[in-house]
Amino acid sequence: MTLHLQGITPDIGSAPIITRFAPSPTGLLHIGHAYAAWVARELAQQSNKGRLLLRFEDIDTTRIKAPYYDAIENDLKWLGLPWDDSALRQSTRSEAYQSALAELKSVGVIYPCFCTRSEIIVETTRMSNAPHGPEGPPYPGTCRKLERSAQQEKISSGIAHSWRLDSQLASELCGPLDFTDLRFGKIRVDPSLLGDVILARKDIGTAYHLAVVVDDAFQGITHVTRGDDLLHSTHVHRLLQSLIKLPAPIYLHHPLVADEHGKRLAKRSDSQSIASLREEGKTPQEIFALIENALGKQAWRIS
Ligand code: GLU
Repeated sequence: MTLHLQGITPDIGSAPIITRFAPSPTGLLHIGHAYAAWVARELAQQSNKGRLLLRFEDIDTTRIKAPYYDAIENDLKWLGLPWDDSALRQSTRSEAYQSALAELKSVGVIYPCFCTRSEIIVETTRMSNAPHGPEGPPYPGTCRKLERSAQQEKISSGIAHSWRLDSQLASELCGPLDFTDLRFGKIRVDPSLLGDVILARKDIGTAYHLAVVVDDAFQGITHVTRGDDLLHSTHVHRLLQSLIKLPAPIYLHHPLVADEHGKRLAKRSDSQSIASLREEGKTPQEIFALIENALGKQAWRIS
């Protein structure tokens, strides 16, 4: 099997490539995950001493289920996709996320948000000509306008709050930023795409965007490979890297493996899980053939 990038030769350089596969232990792996892990491993192997690391994105303790950690590791081993070192669990890293959050607070680019989900819906509906981002309407900015004294008052009275990135201010501070994607080329960061995203949730004190940026740096990831559904998130991640002064990895947003109806696979659809395909008697080779078939002629594929 080789990694094909049509028309582009990745500038691999001579340093070891360190990639990661970062599943959430909220369900069984399906063939889309197998492809994601394979791309990460294959890219790492393009370099001398390349490494694939495994990271469990388990900050949302309300959604994870203990048996999935082992199930995921077993599936990866069975597929012939071993990783280096022991897996990192994000649930053990909250101190690092808190210190990154404190740094962002001291730069003055985050603000507490007291809005409930329904208040946000009401507000975005009211602003009927509000821009629609790729993930729905961005947060309307209600709490960005709160005076410091009002923020303090709400915090002291115990109202639950999240922390949001002031994306416009952040981008003014950072100036123009780019990131490099091996499939899509050089991309200019657009802070308005996702708007003022949440960096610390009310319930768990951190959030995906913050944790992923902190841990990619902590694990020394040189190349982040993940599905192209997360391409928009990288605009936020690049901003955060610049604000927290972390190195910017190179990205590869690979195509998603879809089902026979062209719909993206979800962890819920157990019929496509690696475990059930294995129980049906499929071999890893047959699973990779299924993936290749589902991907068709897309740029990054197995052959
Ligand atoms: N945990 C994410 C997922 O399972 C991956 C996030 C990332 O690679 O940045 O889709």
